[in-house]
Amino acid sequence: MKPVPKEGILDMPAYVGGRDAVKGVANPHKMSANENPLGASPAARAALEEAFDPSVYPDGHATALREALAKLNRLNAENIVCGNGSDEILQLLTQAYLGPGDEVLHTEHAFLIYKLASRAAGARPIAVGERALTANVDALLGAVTPATRMVFLANPNNPTGTMLERDEIMRLHAGLSGDTILVLDGAYAEYCDPQNYPAGFDLVEQHDNVVTTRTFSKAYGLAALRLGWGYCPPDIANVLNRLRGPFNINQPAMAAGLAALDDQGHIEASRAHNAQWREWLVQQLGGIGFSVRPSFANFILVEFDSDKQASAAEAFLCARGVIPRGLTAYGLPHALRLSIGTEAGNRAALAALTDFIAETDVAEKSG
Ligand SMILES: *Cc1c(COP(=O)(O)O)cnc(C)c1O
Repeated sequence: MKPVPKEGILDMPAYVGGRDAVKGVANPHKMSANENPLGASPAARAALEEAFDPSVYPDGHATALREALAKLNRLNAENIVCGNGSDEILQLLTQAYLGPGDEVLHTEHAFLIYKLASRAAGARPIAVGERALTANVDALLGAVTPATRMVFLANPNNPTGTMLERDEIMRLHAGLSGDTILVLDGAYAEYCDPQNYPAGFDLVEQHDNVVTTRTFSKAYGLAALRLGWGYCPPDIANVLNRLRGPFNINQPAMAAGLAALDDQGHIEASRAHNAQWREWLVQQLGGIGFSVRPSFANFILVEFDSDKQASAAEAFLCARGVIPRGLTAYGLPHALRLSIGTEAGNRAALAALTDFIAETDVAEKSG
């Protein structure tokens, strides 16, 4: 006899993140994990230097942080739940609301955690086909069955960078039954135009079955601290607060998160850097024969003629000190995801891809 985990858990592959090192290459440009190339706000770094008493439990309600988030986004602090990364909010949702027999919809090329967290809860994740690498609301609604209990939509989506507009999100929500939760994952929200981004906070406030999630890991540059949050209808907030660990947010993360929120100038600078270099990369890559789709996030999808060429390019880039993200696990083996980096990183990526294409062309012509 030996211990046996719950059904579903051994069906999950363990999550494999973006590569962060290349043997023999010192200080590579890590463009595989969508981190902010400008780093964290200096204010957040300063907050991390401040003394605190590690022997004292942190505020288990993350009150100051929730109030600051509420003020910045004009939300009700009561309905904000903070998580150890937004991944924890996604996991709490699946643990609380899903079980065997339940179905979960996500888009074809979606963030891997949706599938993993659903399986961990014993539910069945279903990948729904996309149109031009964009979520297809008709297909999602067509995949709804009486067993559907949750729908995940990252907007913009990782790894495709595409986005749905507000009316499409409304149409998706309108086609779901009241006991199906629509999770709008805004991990890259800060990179979008604040005037036009369909955050969905109003949907959360108007309905009992919409949750939005946000993270400090991307534009806020605090990935190491593991800090995210969800904006929930009151009943869902109540459920997640019962299920979560009582002190799930640690003190340094709260302090740095608060300071980072206060420095919106850093977010604006990060958004501007990203927009500038994303456009530059798309344009320059276009010049050497890649047609890169418009991205609304802090990465681009570089598509190759074949899976083989994509993996050869991945190895080539790594050897040149530029680490992209291979996308086989996301169902896009012919593509690489490249985070927008520092100026030096972006230029190194372009130079490496230029050389890769030149060598590939020569190889094709000669043989
Ligand atoms: C990076 C990412 C997250 C955030 O993860 P954290 O746990 O907050 O670091 C969530 N959703 C998507 C789509 C992401 O790409």
